[in-house]
Amino acid sequence: MTTQSRSFCRLCPAYCGIVVTCDGDRVVKVQGDREHPVSQGYTCPKGRALGELHHHPRRLDGPHLRRNGRLEPVTWEELLDDLAAKLRGILDARGAAAVGAYFGTAAVFDANLYWAGAALLKRLGSPSKFTSGTIDAPSYPMVRRLMGGVGWLFHSIDFERATMTLLLGTNPVVSHNAHMQAFPNPTARIRELARRGEVWVADSRRTETARIATRHLALRPGTDYALLAFLVRELLRDGADREYLVVHATRVDELRAAVERFDMAATSRITDLPADDLTDLLAAVRRHGRLALQTGTGTSMAPAANLTQWFAIALLAVTGSLERPGGVWFNPGFVQGLDKRPGTPDPEPEPGPPSRPELPRQGGEYPSITMIDEMEAGNLQALFVLGGNLLSALPDALRVRAALERTPVVVVSDVQHGDMTEVATHVLAAAGPLERADLPHFSDCLAPVLAAQYTPAVVPVGADRRAGWWPLAALGERLGASILPQGVSLESATDDDLLRPRVRPASRATFDELKAAPTALVDEDRSLGWVERNVLPGGRWNLAPAPLVSQLEGVGEPAPLVMIPRRLWRRVNSYGRDLPQVLEREPADILLHPADAADAGVVDGGLVFVESAFGRLRGIARVDDSIRPGAVAIPHGWSDPNVSELLSASEGVDPLTGMPTYSGVPVTLSAEEG
Ligand code: SF4
Repeated sequence: MTTQSRSFCRLCPAYCGIVVTCDGDRVVKVQGDREHPVSQGYTCPKGRALGELHHHPRRLDGPHLRRNGRLEPVTWEELLDDLAAKLRGILDARGAAAVGAYFGTAAVFDANLYWAGAALLKRLGSPSKFTSGTIDAPSYPMVRRLMGGVGWLFHSIDFERATMTLLLGTNPVVSHNAHMQAFPNPTARIRELARRGEVWVADSRRTETARIATRHLALRPGTDYALLAFLVRELLRDGADREYLVVHATRVDELRAAVERFDMAATSRITDLPADDLTDLLAAVRRHGRLALQTGTGTSMAPAANLTQWFAIALLAVTGSLERPGGVWFNPGFVQGLDKRPGTPDPEPEPGPPSRPELPRQGGEYPSITMIDEMEAGNLQALFVLGGNLLSALPDALRVRAALERTPVVVVSDVQHGDMTEVATHVLAAAGPLERADLPHFSDCLAPVLAAQYTPAVVPVGADRRAGWWPLAALGERLGASILPQGVSLESATDDDLLRPRVRPASRATFDELKAAPTALVDEDRSLGWVERNVLPGGRWNLAPAPLVSQLEGVGEPAPLVMIPRRLWRRVNSYGRDLPQVLEREPADILLHPADAADAGVVDGGLVFVESAFGRLRGIARVDDSIRPGAVAIPHGWSDPNVSELLSASEGVDPLTGMPTYSGVPVTLSAEEG
């Protein structure tokens, strides 16, 4: 019998509403929900491929245990007994810090899995928490903590009123997010912003977003900070919102001094943008007064990521655009209700783990890069990898693999066999997105409006899989570290039992109200001003934190040819790369400009070898003038080519965030293996 169910896609923070058609337990179609108040029928190919993911031939159907070097299917009892015994031995011999967990992208969009992993670490007393956020965007919370006292402040474009929008190093038409906010139905949103005013895109590539923007600035990779510093400098001379700065900012003079060197000539030289581009952009910002601004991985994975974040917030402050109509607002989260709670400043950073104490622990997380050193030093004896792929996410894949192979216990929670199950000692076969109830937890702060949605499971959990949270809760019971809510037993616990407490008392709707709603609930309020009122020390942004001023003094200029990351339409990081629609229609080719290709003797469709100081990879060249000379774009998250092989896990690590250099890495090209 054919049935249709409403749900929402949980592969990225856009959380598009979907209608899933099933024939019995078989998912036959996934399409956009036209009545969804946020995504309005929009979906991308990833969401529409949820059925393919659900029925994937490499889908994990049950738990597996490695014995004598081979992964064998076992019962959950066998797996949990073995794992609990090993963890007990490690906890007794080495202490709680020897058990760690990495939360990948998939865990971020599975509210119960994320919560259960964090709760288990907390109950065990382990500080060894690592997340994908420290791989591609640690500058966001670090800079916001320095400037505003709290790290995770998610700012969103005021889509209904903004007339001047600046997007730097982000391609929401493909990625559907700009790290600070999600872009469901991105093309319609950007076209509407452009129709109402102007949308400027600064990117080394003429991206899909740049093509529908008002103007594209093809700046040199990694120089976004200089473009922003130039705007701040000029606006502080003429065009700043002085009233806002007097009331809501400190250290304006120090900011003015810091940006003084970014005059037209210097900025044009650093960014390689003609003076006309700079003049026109400055005039546009002055013309509109306020602006909305977002950045993406093109900036946050670059060496100057911290400086770009600094000047982004500074520019928004100088133009009086923070928490003002037509600028940006901070989404407090529909179920989080941060605006209705007293703000508590983040604690000061703590030392990193024993092998890398100089790389700070912030927001309760060690930088993910330190996992490698901790495993090599034998400090991490057991590592849970929840919904992530360390072999393509961390630098130096060979070193990561060796570190994982020497770690006694590697527990992988995933929906299908892949790179990580090859190195796992214990495999937890997790329910997929269509097999579990869910709602946005902290990621509700990423929505472009105040919204949240509950979904029940669309299909029953198949084969011998379990919800991602379940084995973690079962381990807690075995280890005397129960994570279950009071009064809930493991035998009877459901997804809903764990979701219910995720809806905070300050939520705009109760769990039962969310559950009863046919689709997302929306609050049209923009809650302007709550960060000034509840969060900022004295209601003011610090516009020139000393650590950032000092980092600016040492910033270098980019190499002539560098590698940059690229998002693909049919994939989110490592997810989806082996779906047939991806393999056939979206190969992970290496994009380079015709001039760079000619210099290296590389031809379109031919092999290209890319070499950095740390390693090399090869791939198929796509020679195309949509990318500027001096930039080579390689998608991340693939095993072939794996950009991780070009990156160092020990050199070029940012001391403020512990993020290695993932973008802007100097490379050379050749057509033949040298
Ligand atoms: S943009 Fe695509 S992947 Fe993201 S939620 Fe929507 S359908 Fe899913």
